[in-house]
Amino acid sequence: MATPLDGTDVVFADLDGVIYKGADAVPFAVESLVDASARARVAYITNNASRTPESVAEHLRELGLPARADDVVNSPQAAVRLLKTLVPAGATILVIGGEGLTTEVTNNGFVVTDSAEDSPAAVIQGFAPHLGWVHLAEASFALHTGIPWVATNTDWTIPVARGIAPGNGTLVSAVHLAVGRLPVFAGKPEKAIFDYARERFHASDPLVIGDRLDTDILGANRAGMRSALVLTGIDQAKQAIAADETMRPTYILEDLRQLDEEYPEVRLDVDGDVTSATVGDAVVRMKAHVVRIAHPGTSRINLLRAACAVVYNSGLRIYGLDVEPAIYS
Ligand SMILES: [Mg+2]
Repeated sequence: MATPLDGTDVVFADLDGVIYKGADAVPFAVESLVDASARARVAYITNNASRTPESVAEHLRELGLPARADDVVNSPQAAVRLLKTLVPAGATILVIGGEGLTTEVTNNGFVVTDSAEDSPAAVIQGFAPHLGWVHLAEASFALHTGIPWVATNTDWTIPVARGIAPGNGTLVSAVHLAVGRLPVFAGKPEKAIFDYARERFHASDPLVIGDRLDTDILGANRAGMRSALVLTGIDQAKQAIAADETMRPTYILEDLRQLDEEYPEVRLDVDGDVTSATVGDAVVRMKAHVVRIAHPGTSRINLLRAACAVVYNSGLRIYGLDVEPAIYS
């Protein structure tokens, strides 16, 4: 049996819900990634466009990870890479965003403007807390001419110290309603940010670790990378069982200690109209749309892995399924 880390040359770890939650480190995450770094390069992929790679790395070092700025892949980097394919080198770009994005645009040889009057060749948009109507209006004026529009990410919300606030997707949406078209997006779950990360780290068999099916795992699947869903953040057992075929992870982990523990084989047996999945000593059976525990076994995570295997194999969607609640509660 192999561990998820076996054969992995680069780990692409998500941050929120994987390494930290607010100000606190996720249990076992830091020590597990430090151990993993002895066997693979550990890098980080984040949609957060308002923090520079250096400030992300500094936060990770405070938590105990040996992170450097060049270990961090963020959505402004992926957005500017996309921008380069759309406009000539050295073009004037209307930047709607913060210092992280402006710096990235400038470092890539473009001229930055904040006014539609300068006839920009494209608009690039990312989150910054100071953005207001004046900035969104400039974007609208420029975009009415039909020039390319690149956005760092689609996140509707952004978690801040006082709660949940509108994120980049919400601000992009305001411009979208004014101009009647959508930008191209670069961040997770788009393939662009994963392709960029693969190229930058010369990764041949990377492993994406994330806590969200609709960003981390969907993006990894689109980019053809193995993925591990870790149940320390947003998505839990219920969401894992319900994942449609675009968002199914290669591995399901309770916490990051399991990154380098043997991943049990999943065995499927078909007997007439009954399919059984066995993982370790857990057995889950599915007949028509009914999913039941045949043997609970001694490990909750293996029970979930077995349930996911039998459901994923069935080709049925969760809406029509009757899943025994003990599997996911
Ligand atoms: Mg996350």
